[in-house]
Amino acid sequence: MSTEDDFADLTGKRIGDYDMVARIGIGGMGVVYEGKHPLIGKRVAVKFLLPSLSKDKELVARFVAEARAVNAIRHRGIVDIFNFGVTEDGTQYFVMEFLEGRAFDQVISNEAPMHPALALRYLEEILDALQAAHAAGVIHRDIKPSNIFLVETGRTRPYVKLLDFGIAKVNAPKSGSTPQTRQSVVIGTPEYIAPEQAQGRSISAATDLYAIGCMAFEMLTGRLPFRGENPLDTMFKHVVDPTPRVKGFVPDVPPALDELVWSLMQKRPEDRPSNTADVLAAVQAMRGGGATLDASQGVPSYSPGTTPTGELRLDKTVPSRPLPLVQVDTESMRAAVKPSRVPFIAVGLIALVAIGVSVFALTRPSPNTSTGLVVPPPPTLATPDASALAVAPAPPAPQADPAPVDAGPVAVAAAPTPAPAPAPAPAPAPAPVRRGTSAAMLKGRLAMLEKRLEQREAARGEALPVLRSFLKQARTDAAKAGSDADRREVWLFLDDVARQIDR
Ligand code: ATP
Ligand code: MG
Repeated sequence: MSTEDDFADLTGKRIGDYDMVARIGIGGMGVVYEGKHPLIGKRVAVKFLLPSLSKDKELVARFVAEARAVNAIRHRGIVDIFNFGVTEDGTQYFVMEFLEGRAFDQVISNEAPMHPALALRYLEEILDALQAAHAAGVIHRDIKPSNIFLVETGRTRPYVKLLDFGIAKVNAPKSGSTPQTRQSVVIGTPEYIAPEQAQGRSISAATDLYAIGCMAFEMLTGRLPFRGENPLDTMFKHVVDPTPRVKGFVPDVPPALDELVWSLMQKRPEDRPSNTADVLAAVQAMRGGGATLDASQGVPSYSPGTTPTGELRLDKTVPSRPLPLVQVDTESMRAAVKPSRVPFIAVGLIALVAIGVSVFALTRPSPNTSTGLVVPPPPTLATPDASALAVAPAPPAPQADPAPVDAGPVAVAAAPTPAPAPAPAPAPAPAPVRRGTSAAMLKGRLAMLEKRLEQREAARGEALPVLRSFLKQARTDAAKAGSDADRREVWLFLDDVARQIDR
């Protein structure tokens, strides 16, 4: 498996004790194969971690320790991992039980908006497993539908299992580490990320509960609570946008359930329920007679109130597919990921208080999924543009961006007019990315955006520390950018930041 390919085809290869039969799917952290024991015939699933993650000894060690901790619980709702290994080329893998059924993102895609009784039934099983993990001191940190599996064997009643404990680790800054020595990624899946996680603050069981709240919202309404134009925008919405209520979309949702979901999605962790067992108990109390997960036993299809069903259906063209939590070293990510292979790279800055860390969230289309979710197109790297290439280096720190729309280096050189008072503007189209992005152009654009942010802060009467941190990180990255490709990446990041400033 090489970084060149991301994932070479392992079909037919023997890994450890198992033959790789077929690739099941690709996530943000690695690739999963179905394996089979050549003698016994036992089916397993083998997950190979991304090369960049495999190299992170600390991550691997922590993953093994936490997988051991959750496995020790032996909870039916947590996937069983029974081996770890490393391939000849250094790729870490782990062997787990093979699950038959559907990933929960498919379940949501097919079944949301769900009858509250069905949603409660799923929630009860998810929370039962999660509270066992929390009781053992393990926080998942990347609760999302694709990390939950609905086991459907046809032999027993369907039930859920949680996957991927221990991979999605927050990379808390180690003492002595700095953004210069370790640019790390700390990002939950943007669609389900808790505000404190998005801001690099300390996380707790409440962080997982927030994600559960977002999933519950999605199950009941068929839509995500926050959906931005890109991963960064989505994260930002989790931090600042008002929390939507289920009853705003499903008027006849049971009030207690609406209240519970609302409480789970509170911005401040201390405002959420303090303990997972309590949430489980609340769900159990609400279930009453309960529904069954087994469709054959007649779960009614849910037609919520007066809200038009069409509006509630999960949008099959969700523009920002849930992104996997990725923890990578940004240097090796840059080296490993070719723009042409990457549908979207979002770069952001997380830590606000102690340390800046840059964020790269990577997603790729999952060939195994049939949800119809689409990934935003890759940022277009425009063909060489003579006018852009001819542009002189940007002038030093112009007064301000000439317009709310970040017009790119051409405008930098051509239009040093004073900026109007920055009014919230609709998100502008991303500035075209041109070959030949020079250091001076980046510097000029950074200066403009800094100025514009100042104006925005003045207009709002409040500081916007997240955006400040983004720009600070972009400065660091720009200073370190050694190639045109590096500078283009920073430029793309600035496109996102510019949109945030203008939103
Ligand atoms: P992330 O890396 O962020 O967790 P992801 O959850 O989207 O991303 P993977 O965890 O790599 O993706 O999983 C890829 C696919 O493999 C998913 O469709 C998942 O349902 C499937 N899968 C994972 N583990 C198993 C398993 N034990 N048995 C069967 N299928 C599995
Ligand atoms: Mg996963």
